[in-house]
This record gives sequence, structure tokens and C-alpha cells, in this order.
Amino acid sequence: MEFETKAIHSGQEPEPAYGSVNVPIYQTSTYAQEAVGKHKGYEYARTGNPTRTALETALAALEEGFGAVCFSSGMAAESTFFYLLQPGDHVIVPDDVYGGTYRLVSRVLAPAMGIEFDTVDLTDLDAVEKAIREETRVVWVESPTNPLLKIVDIAAVADLAHEAGAWCVVDNTFASPYLQQPVKLGADAVVHSSTKYLGGHSDVVGGAVVTTAAEMQERLAFLQNAAGAVPGPQDVFLVLRGLKTLAVRMDAHCRNAGIVAEFLSGHPRVKRVYYPGLPGHPGHELAGRQMRGFGGMVSFETETEEEALEVCGRTELFYLAESLGGVESLIEHPGRMTHASVAGSPLEVPPTLVRLSVGIEHPDDLVEDLTRALR
Ligand SMILES: *Cc1c(COP(=O)(O)O)cnc(C)c1O
Repeated sequence: MEFETKAIHSGQEPEPAYGSVNVPIYQTSTYAQEAVGKHKGYEYARTGNPTRTALETALAALEEGFGAVCFSSGMAAESTFFYLLQPGDHVIVPDDVYGGTYRLVSRVLAPAMGIEFDTVDLTDLDAVEKAIREETRVVWVESPTNPLLKIVDIAAVADLAHEAGAWCVVDNTFASPYLQQPVKLGADAVVHSSTKYLGGHSDVVGGAVVTTAAEMQERLAFLQNAAGAVPGPQDVFLVLRGLKTLAVRMDAHCRNAGIVAEFLSGHPRVKRVYYPGLPGHPGHELAGRQMRGFGGMVSFETETEEEALEVCGRTELFYLAESLGGVESLIEHPGRMTHASVAGSPLEVPPTLVRLSVGIEHPDDLVEDLTRALR
């Protein structure tokens, strides 16, 4: 079955009681049992909920994984995943990893769990090889990265991790499974903030881990129940609803981002454009091999920080807001907004940088809005 079909049908068969074509929102905390221990597979809603099961089934199918475990946010998915580790274990994170992941690793896992970590430029495979040590359990990958849109060779990094007996875990939030399937490239687990493209409408916060083996799936399901960061049924319904249009939305995001990146590349007030779809981007060829399209995120630099801040304040269709991956276009200043918490760390970003989450409005209107803002 092809991706578009799975997105609509996997785990989402019509419900047997009345034939509802959408998975019902099972708004319940518990399930009546016929006799002690005699139930229909669900006992308590932290442990399991049929709406959540539908989303987990669909995500596993879309990422071609073994299974999936859903959480109340992307960070809840990540922090629960890291409960798989032990004190003294070592983690490698990209030198431009999502700021929330860096904060979790450096300010929670390191002091509270005794996890050691290094930040490495994952586009430099020699540096990855050098950073891997005996205690390394996880090499954490993002591609494209945030906000500089670097492209990492997932298959090559997975090989290096596996040689050392470590897992390669890919945060696939920026690409979505429609554009990139890390499991096929060798990843052992895939992490999502479903808040972004999976949900796609800026109306829900959620997360997921897709697994590739029964052992990790069982352990994560145990941790999901034991640590308890589960999503509510309304929230998983919204993500399921978003998934149905993921393919068509991603095609539109890619097309519009390509047009916006081209426009910015030719603009006299723009110093540099970061978009893997541009032939001059260092990861262009690799992205062409590893991804189905180049994604909806575009970053660019102006000459001065003042100009960057002005542009962010002048757009009308591009709302000035954090987050990404919704149908509406967003603009933000990473240095002062999404990446303010990494100032002074190896993850600091240029103050002249502006990040766009290009939505699915008509591209002419988006270009006109940016033309006005860059006047
Ligand atoms: C937003 C985001 C997260 C965190 O997800 P939340 O749903 O906000 O908790 C993790 N990784 C990436 C790449 C993100 O963009």
C-alpha cells in the first residue's frame, strides 16, 4: 500500500458499532469489565486507549517501523525514550540539535540521570567516529536541522552507531515520514513532535516514538504507562485527522518553500539563504537521495540583526510565532525566540537569521508579503 493510502486507512478502519468512518474519540478514563480480568483489551486509559492505538498503528505504518508509542508532547516522547538509558551512558547530539532536546540532555538528563553527552557536527563523519566511545548508546540525528537546515547522511551515521553497538535515533519532525523514512536508512527509532507537520494545523501538542523491534516497543510501552506522559484522546484524534492530508500538505509546503527560497536568493537585502532545495546548498545532493522533497522550512540572513528583527515584525501573512509545520506561514527570529535558550552554548545561531515555516497559502501572496517586509 502506498503512503497516501496508509495515511488514511492504517489503523483507521470504520468503527464496528455504527460504521463511523473516523476513529471515535474514546473519552474515557476506564473500561467496564464483564468479570474480573475479562475485558476487551483495555483496562485503564493511561495504559491504553483505542483512539491512541489507532494513531500508533498509523504512525508505525507511515514510518515503516515495528510499532509506535504516542506521548503528550515531542519532549515527553524524548524524555521517556531516554529512560531506556542508564547512568554513565553517553549520548551524541548534533551541534545544532533542537534547543529543547539540548536543554533536556544538558540540564535534566546529565545532572539528574548521570547521562554524558557531546555535541558533534553530524555532517562531519570523521568527527562522529571520533566522538563515539564505548559508553555511547545513542547517536541522535536531525535532518534537516533547525534552524540552519543542514543535511545529515542518516545511513552513514547509522552505520557508525551500529559498529559501536549504539542506536541511531532520528528526530524526523522537520521532514515528516512523507519526505523521509529514517527506518529504511537504518535508524533504530524515530522521534516526532506531532505538534508540527503530522498534526499540521497548529491546534495540538503531541509526540511519538516509532520503534523497529519488539524489545524496544515493549519497554517503551511499559515506560509510557509507568512514567505516564500520555496524550488525551482529543489530541490524538486531531493528529489522526492531520495525517490524512499529510502527503498533499507536504507537497504544497515543498512547492511553496522552493518558490520562497528562490525569491529570497535573488533579493538584494538577503545575505544568505538556507534551503536544501537550492543547488548551492552543501546538502542538496544528499537531500535529493535521502528525501522525497526538500521540506517547508527556509532560513535566511539579512545584513544586520536590526533588519532581521524588522522583517519579522513587518510580515502580515507570515505570523510572527514560534513553532512550525502548520498550514499557515510563520516567521521568527531564532536568536531571540526559539533559540534564545542556547545563547552562549555551541548551538548559538547568527543574530541576523530569520526562520520561515512556509505554509500552504498561494505562493504569490507569500512572496508579496515578503517583498513588502523586505522593502
Ligand atoms: C518542536 C520540536 C520538538 C519538541 O516537540 P514539542 O511537541 O514542542 O514538545 C522536538 N524536536 C523538534 C525538531 C521540534 O521541532
